[in-house]
Amino acid sequence: MGKLYDVIILGAGPGGLSAGLYGGRARLNTLIIEKGKDGGQIAITDSIENYPGQQVEGESGPSLIERMTEQAAKFGCERVSDTIKTAELVGPVKKLIGTKDTYEAKTVIIASGAYPRPIGCKGEQEFLGKGISYCATCDANFFEDFEVYVVGGGDAAVEEAMYLTKFARKVTIIHRRDQLRAAQSIQERAFKNDKLHFMWDSVVEEVKGDGIISEMTVKNVKTGELTEITADPDDGMFGVFGFIGRIPNTELFKNTGLNMDDKGYIPTNDDMHTNIPGVFAAGDCRVKSLRQVVTAAADGAIAATQAEKYINENT
Ligand code: NAP
Repeated sequence: MGKLYDVIILGAGPGGLSAGLYGGRARLNTLIIEKGKDGGQIAITDSIENYPGQQVEGESGPSLIERMTEQAAKFGCERVSDTIKTAELVGPVKKLIGTKDTYEAKTVIIASGAYPRPIGCKGEQEFLGKGISYCATCDANFFEDFEVYVVGGGDAAVEEAMYLTKFARKVTIIHRRDQLRAAQSIQERAFKNDKLHFMWDSVVEEVKGDGIISEMTVKNVKTGELTEITADPDDGMFGVFGFIGRIPNTELFKNTGLNMDDKGYIPTNDDMHTNIPGVFAAGDCRVKSLRQVVTAAADGAIAATQAEKYINENT
């Protein structure tokens, strides 16, 4: 503790790094606090092809985020690696209390992102990393020539399932309804992919195995019928990847006076102001209709610009 920053940004995903870039360029004393690797969810995204102007062949989440990190650093944005446990957000000096230190600032930009929602089946925790995964980019190669099941029906599930077909022998999407939520263009590519199969109106009830998943019970939600899926004897295992949405990383802000919706997302106005003066939110942790790199980056830019305005008007 000691230094009073102009802006502290919590999270080094696209929203936080964009806020860092804008904060740094505005000559604000800016600190980004990140507990893990930079990039948030795009650190585990294999290909990025919808960030405007980005035409780099083979662009991945990590390669894009690396350039964002360098750009924020170039403009003097400070960095620290710490896990924030509690926060005091109300008043002229905001405090973020971490496991290593306490950090103080005139403004805070919360860009803490979101994490994968668990599938919710029996055995999920036991088989984490032993058949259960939430990251195709990280774990696809473990399933080279094996069978893989993907739970979900949104953009993420279908895109990641298509990615997994590059590795797995067969990929089956298990979706709780009889039609996908994914964008039409993504669906069209999926239905043309010979390695991709679908189990409609279905949810995973339980995964089982001896150290690694080799059996799974799937329930048809319309008929109640249970299907037992068993690994091919030559394989002895299969993978189950969950892509059923995200949960915002906002738990630590409970009881700080910060407004959140019933799912934990932070409401803001168009200028990223939360209900607490001097506290802004950017990216996937915010209530919004489209959670993408481009919208997170835009949020970060607006939040940092508004933080500067707030400081000029209030200090
Ligand atoms: P999403 O769009 O919210 O879809 C979640 C999917 O999981 C839905 O199909 C939902 O089923 C299903 N689901 C939710 N809870 C479930 C449960 N308890 N059990 C079984 N299934 C469940 O989430 P997402 O696919 O992660 O995408 C999140 C955001 O990122 C979206 O805005 C998306 O557009 C964006 N995204 C974009 C791209 C891209 O543009 N390339 C790629 C990835 C993600 P129902 O359909 O029945 O509700």
